Amino acid sequence: MKRKQKRFLQMTLLFTVALIFLPNVGLWSLYKDKHLVKSAEPGEQQTFPLGLGDGQFYSWTDGLRRKDWHDYESIQKEAMRSGKGEHGKPYPLTEEDHDDSAYRENGFNIFVSNNIALERSLPDIRHANCKHKMYLERLPNTSIIIPFHNEGWTSLLRTIHSIINRTPGSLIAEIILVDDFSEREHLKDKLEEYMARFSKVRIVRTKKREGLIRTRLLGASMARGEVLTFLDSHCEVNVNWLPPLLNQIALNHKTIVCPMIDVIDHNHFGYEAQAGDAMRGAFDWEMYYKRIPIPPELQRADPSDPFESPVMAGGLFAVNRKWFWELGGYDPGLEIWGGEQYEISFKVWMCGGEMFDVPCSRVGHIYRKYVPYKVPSGTSLARIRNVAANLCVDSKHGATGTELRLDICVKDGSERTWSHEQLFTFGWREDIRPGEPLHTRKFCFDAISHNSPVTLYDCHGMKGNQLWGYRKDRTLFHPVSNSCMDCNPAEKKIFMARCDPLSETQQWIFEHINMTVLEKFNQHANS
Ligand code: UDP
Ligand code: MN
Repeated sequence: MKRKQKRFLQMTLLFTVALIFLPNVGLWSLYKDKHLVKSAEPGEQQTFPLGLGDGQFYSWTDGLRRKDWHDYESIQKEAMRSGKGEHGKPYPLTEEDHDDSAYRENGFNIFVSNNIALERSLPDIRHANCKHKMYLERLPNTSIIIPFHNEGWTSLLRTIHSIINRTPGSLIAEIILVDDFSEREHLKDKLEEYMARFSKVRIVRTKKREGLIRTRLLGASMARGEVLTFLDSHCEVNVNWLPPLLNQIALNHKTIVCPMIDVIDHNHFGYEAQAGDAMRGAFDWEMYYKRIPIPPELQRADPSDPFESPVMAGGLFAVNRKWFWELGGYDPGLEIWGGEQYEISFKVWMCGGEMFDVPCSRVGHIYRKYVPYKVPSGTSLARIRNVAANLCVDSKHGATGTELRLDICVKDGSERTWSHEQLFTFGWREDIRPGEPLHTRKFCFDAISHNSPVTLYDCHGMKGNQLWGYRKDRTLFHPVSNSCMDCNPAEKKIFMARCDPLSETQQWIFEHINMTVLEKFNQHANS
């Protein structure tokens, strides 16, 4: 009996050891699998210094096969390139290159863009771990949707070339260029002719100026890919940018993923990471978008792993097409620019989705010097012209405590209107701010008494001495001091005075304003 027992114990031990260590069936093989076991025969493949690069598939314990999606041939080709702006280096600028006319149409230096190769190379500034990451062998394909309004020729083309050159063809269902009613000639037949060489590029056009949200929506409504990937019309995608985005969506289709958005300098087109690089998206009490550091408790052991973000940055992201529509897409009432990142972000969180920023996916974006396009009526922008003086309120010297002045009304389309010195936003707080919504400088019209000058002061959003109302008699009323905005046309000064609706120096005309916005702004003033 005793001997039998011992024998039985021996057998069990042997069996357990076998179970753990036997090749292919043992538990040990599962562990090895997790650490990349080649499922194909080890061949005489060439090895590359950057990654595995052997075109093989690797199995994981989850039963899904992964592979190295890098295109080493194209990486090596790019490394050989030389010339101005190559490898994302700043273009050497001369004085005249800085001339304002270079910026006028796009808000970035188009001369520089024209002098840099359309297929220029970029530096691989990803975290080192990204070079060895593998993604699912089977990834969904995507429609890449690019809205554009009066985009520069070379900046638009460089966007497309970078996508074609740095994206595995099998992952692109189509590239949809959506023209938001551009006027520029090069975006018409010439664009169609140029794009004819790319079988996957489609061009669609809005029938009137729609703004970027409805333009993206039009693109999305025509898209056939499993995933929608939205980009701006002045981007350069970087090495292996797409697989890590699609991989995250393949793992959970209720996911919105954003690449790291790198900065292409609007002067010299140098390519670099944003200050602080990987940060989370957030917003402050005034709904201004912020980037904030990842708190230590949420930092990943591997900083190249995707991390969650409360709000997305906006323009560049990928989402499962069906899920995008389940979320209701975008609110089509969003005008021209801004706010859409909050809408999508909140819906994602409320509908059980997730939002990830993906450090191994990098896309360069030209951040403009100023907004070059006209923002048509329908937004809360206006110029404020005085009837008696026929001059406009100007915030040229906009800094805390500076006095507002009258100045010659700048013509539409001159550099000063682009920089919005004579354009003002009328917000729901019933204060008045220089600049266009969301890009406003955070100064507000402020007056401390019934005869003080009108100054720009840090917005506090608490109404009080920053509360204004525009009345039917065209006076700008200031309830706290019970007085009206007045001016001295000769001295170009703006100050408060006792309201006198008959005095033309107290009459202000709001130009280019949307009446609904004005009515909301004025709720208290006319009631
Ligand atoms: N856009 C558009 N219609 C507009 C304004 C912008 O189609 O009325 C496009 C624009 O060409 C770009 C994208 O929408 O591809 C985002 O706009 P923009 O780059 O001006 O925004 P920013 O990146 O400066 O925030
Ligand atoms: Mn942009």
